[in-house]
Amino acid sequence: MKDSGSSVKQKDLISRRGFLDRMAAVGIGATFASLAGQLPASAEAAATGDPEVSSVRGQVGWAIAGLGDYGTTKILPAFASCKNSKVTGLISGTPDKLQKFGKKYSVAADSRYSYDAIPSLKDNDKISVVYVITPNSTHVDFTVKALEAGKHVLCEKPMANSKAECQRMIDAAKAANRKLMVAYRVHFEPNNLKAKELVTSGEIGKVSYGVSDHHRPLVMNLPRDAWRMSKATAGGGSLVDIGIYSINGLLWLLDDSPVEVFGSTYSPANDPRFKEVECNFTGQMRLASGRVVNFSSGYDATKKRVDIFGTKSVITIDPGTAYEGNKVYTSDNAGKLKPFYEGKSELQFSRQLDHFSQAILANTPIRTPGEMGLRDVAIIEALYESAKTNQWIKL
Ligand code: NAD
Repeated sequence: MKDSGSSVKQKDLISRRGFLDRMAAVGIGATFASLAGQLPASAEAAATGDPEVSSVRGQVGWAIAGLGDYGTTKILPAFASCKNSKVTGLISGTPDKLQKFGKKYSVAADSRYSYDAIPSLKDNDKISVVYVITPNSTHVDFTVKALEAGKHVLCEKPMANSKAECQRMIDAAKAANRKLMVAYRVHFEPNNLKAKELVTSGEIGKVSYGVSDHHRPLVMNLPRDAWRMSKATAGGGSLVDIGIYSINGLLWLLDDSPVEVFGSTYSPANDPRFKEVECNFTGQMRLASGRVVNFSSGYDATKKRVDIFGTKSVITIDPGTAYEGNKVYTSDNAGKLKPFYEGKSELQFSRQLDHFSQAILANTPIRTPGEMGLRDVAIIEALYESAKTNQWIKL
């Protein structure tokens, strides 16, 4: 089966219109409702991120802010497969890293910056985008400064540690007339796009339920996990780090919006990793359609799975949000699980980068805008409130 970007059919647009009308009728906030079916077909085709599909020409210069694990092992190498994106700047607090990666990716010495120097990016016209890949608590400050310097920003998930911070970022993008995207790479991952196509086409029948579980071990002595144990820096535990994939994935695949949420936390006693943040989060979202979905996240086991339940078959993406090796399975009404599709997961990185570059070059909308990041942080805040009060929390 061909491994391609998502295609939007006319009937999807019609059903999306109906969805938006239903949202308006039930009074869901404009921000959340507008995220369902947000892209007109022509705009999505313009900025698929897929070089085989997009007709957008030109190259956009990117500065990578944060030369840590994800930035250096997944993002910098992905530029080699991009058509519209190239690395032209680096931003780090460590001069040795600036030198090492500057040399490796041929970034000129005068395009290597410390975090304090972000405002001076305004004088560098080789850089159009800043990609913020630093600990969560730093996202708001680096993003706002980059926007104020006239740069477009791709910001890692979670967008920030509070709704108020997300709103500041959105406001700064509007004031600077720049684009702001949140790095939900799975929206560019071939297996997830295939699953989305199966759901929206009606091929799996009517969908009444979804469930998603995201777990990975948090490792005590790993530098990239050290800040994840701090509430002030990470903003929370497994929910904000990987539970966000469960939340975002279910809402995207079901093309639905949350109305109210319920959640609970669990951490093993006396585990030094969980002095400030939770190990497990178990939650439910009641959606505007009336459907109720379940999810969990955790910092002990290993699992990254999404199940979407249709009347004709159930789709399982397992792993669903890994960097590589994601796979789609279906199970029919006899309950038999069958491998269905395996696209090249690693394309998600370059396609995400090129999607944003194409949206800038062609001035088309982005698939995962700041408003989506804000929605997810609002859900997370409500889930923590629910866990604290043992009540359903309305959004
Ligand atoms: P990391 O610790 O490996 O890298 C973070 C980098 O930011 C380091 O180089 C560190 O020196 C730098 N930094 C800048 N300001 C800092 C500060 N005030 N305190 C500490 N470090 C600071 O972490 P990571 O795993 O690369 O995660 C970075 C961001 O990327 C996080 O927001 C995380 O959620 C996100 N991330 C996303 C994915 C994904 O699949 N989309 C995967 C991993 C991480």
